Amino acid sequence: MRLVFASNNAHKLSEVRAMMPEGIEVLSLKDIGFEAEIEETGETLEENSLIKARTIWDFINDGMSAAKPLNDGLMIDGVFADDTGLEIDALNGEPGVYTARWYRREPTLTLPKGKEMTDEMLNFHCNRAKALRELEGKENRGCQFRTVITLLMNGDATLNGGMIQIEGVVRGRIAEEEYGEGGFGYDPVFIPEGYDKTFGELPAELKNSISHRARAIQELVKVLNDRMMD
Ligand code: IMP
Repeated sequence: MRLVFASNNAHKLSEVRAMMPEGIEVLSLKDIGFEAEIEETGETLEENSLIKARTIWDFINDGMSAAKPLNDGLMIDGVFADDTGLEIDALNGEPGVYTARWYRREPTLTLPKGKEMTDEMLNFHCNRAKALRELEGKENRGCQFRTVITLLMNGDATLNGGMIQIEGVVRGRIAEEEYGEGGFGYDPVFIPEGYDKTFGELPAELKNSISHRARAIQELVKVLNDRMMD
């Protein structure tokens, strides 16, 4: 089975590839020649996840075969996309759908001196700083990562009109400061429940077995296995 993962995020792509069992090939947007940014205009994780999957679905069914057929001529069986939010209890679930661009609401953040940063690193750094600042002095540091995966498959009447959405959640808490350099995004400030280290410190294999994305992907694999048995 061959699926396209509708994300430009190289960290997510390598996590998802590491989680998928043999027999399910995951193509990137680069692999299919899709280079545009997908605008996340939805108001919920569910909407944004669907927007991403639908955009790539339309590209494949419409543009790609004419614009850039895959070299090996093999068919694509479907598309999936994820959208993830950090939901902080003491902030009534914020930043939620604004997780990727949360820091933009905090114009006074300063950058660490002497560190060369890519735009992505800068974005992640500022978001983490915002999380630490919002929770400064707060005892309730509980939060969760929630991922919504949307799957669109070829000619599948059983999938709710061709679409299925799956959720994955990991509970945890925001650390008092940053620890570790592994992972990406908020990982250095997120301590998963049952552990005393952040996702930035814990081994990638562990994150990839208990994370929000891992849980959603495990469910996705069940759905795909059921289909392959049909
Ligand atoms: P997206 O909209 O699904 O791409 O994700 C929104 C933001 O959530 C990303 O820009 C990251 O900052 C953050 N994020 C998503 N997944 C993770 C993760 O596994 N660890 C840490 N941060 C994440």
